[in-house]
Amino acid sequence: MTDVDFAAIREQFPILDQRIHGHPLVYLDSAATSQKPQCVIDAESEFYRTINAGVHRGAHELAARSTMAFEEARAKVARLVGANSEEGEEEIVVTAGATAGLNLLATAFGNASLGRGGKPAQRFALKPGDEIVVSKAEHHSVLLPFQELAYRTGATLKWFDLTDDGRIRSDTADQVITERTKVVAITHVGNTTGAVTDIAPIVRRAHEVGAVFILDACQSVPHLKVDFHAMDVDFAAWSAHKMYGPTGVGFLYGKRELLEALPPANFGGSMVELAWMDKPAEYMAPPARFEAGTQPVAQVVAAGVAADWMRAIGMENIEAHEKTIAGELLKLGDIDGVRILGPRENVNRIGTVAFDVQGVHPHDVGQFIDSLGIAIRVGHHCAQPVHRHFGLYASNRASTGVYNSIEDAQALVEAVSKVRPFFKA
Ligand code: PMP
Repeated sequence: MTDVDFAAIREQFPILDQRIHGHPLVYLDSAATSQKPQCVIDAESEFYRTINAGVHRGAHELAARSTMAFEEARAKVARLVGANSEEGEEEIVVTAGATAGLNLLATAFGNASLGRGGKPAQRFALKPGDEIVVSKAEHHSVLLPFQELAYRTGATLKWFDLTDDGRIRSDTADQVITERTKVVAITHVGNTTGAVTDIAPIVRRAHEVGAVFILDACQSVPHLKVDFHAMDVDFAAWSAHKMYGPTGVGFLYGKRELLEALPPANFGGSMVELAWMDKPAEYMAPPARFEAGTQPVAQVVAAGVAADWMRAIGMENIEAHEKTIAGELLKLGDIDGVRILGPRENVNRIGTVAFDVQGVHPHDVGQFIDSLGIAIRVGHHCAQPVHRHFGLYASNRASTGVYNSIEDAQALVEAVSKVRPFFKA
């Protein structure tokens, strides 16, 4: 338990103050997207009301203020994840989201494989015989870009298997990652299982063989205290909309020396020093090199407010609060005919709890639960291989945010206990 008044925090979310189908809304779908506190909603409209202008260009005062707000937001986000934000040392690249950040890396590695970026970029280059390692727990936004990269370069895609309860088998790092491995891309927290990956042995082994380690931090940054320096990850991607910020923006962390060596993936305005007709352009230093085109400035500024807001509550407090709710949600597994897809024990996991109700299709479960005003996600959650691991195509998933209460979890458990009798399963 913490001293933080989480009931008061919930009050900061205007969307939660409504009834759905005649019931008070219980929102348990934060793994899909989180709701936004008033301060984040205000930050976006305040930006448009007072300082809206393009960044990094234009000599006028609004452009200067906008640029300052944008760079301050980058620094706030950097502080949340233990990254550098000093000028010339920046390690945070603005993206359109986790998917965009992961595709940026896969595309840049593909460009390096074609010889782009010269000698420094060769550490990212792939050729037939090289290996890319992922896991069976990956969201499709990790699996597919790196699978495509393997197809494009002739490299071989390999993967970590999972334990019966869906944890990535970090204990097999020495076997799965070999001297031929060049890239390892692994999720920090499974978006279906809620399991926190023991990444240390995987990072250690990846670095032992000279491979680049990429972390999908989508489901960890909103819920756990992360420090990318301490974790020694090379790159990490996540989305603002799952950490109480706006949609359409995300961030890519990269160790500075790796960002310096990485060739660009997207091309356009605001990323070159010099452009010519008859020879290749000279690209700017990171992060600008990776931020071609007009940036979603208002959204980045609001994401910075979200990052500060989370830090003010304290990530340890958020983690502890959600852990108590996770404990309640795990009681779903005590219901007759209900199976949890992920660790049953409330250890090294977050409050994302996927479950199968024997004999009832997830869409029927979801509709029944929705009729009681409770929002959960149903389907394969863009993670088909992990569902196949559990012998299923789809499941139901409840997931917590900072605004949830024990009562929310109890309401869900009670609702799910009625599903099989209702459908006579
Ligand atoms: N990875 C994980 C683990 C996720 O949960 C998600 C979001 N569902 C993503 C990547 C992709 O994030 P986005 O859709 O915001 O780009």
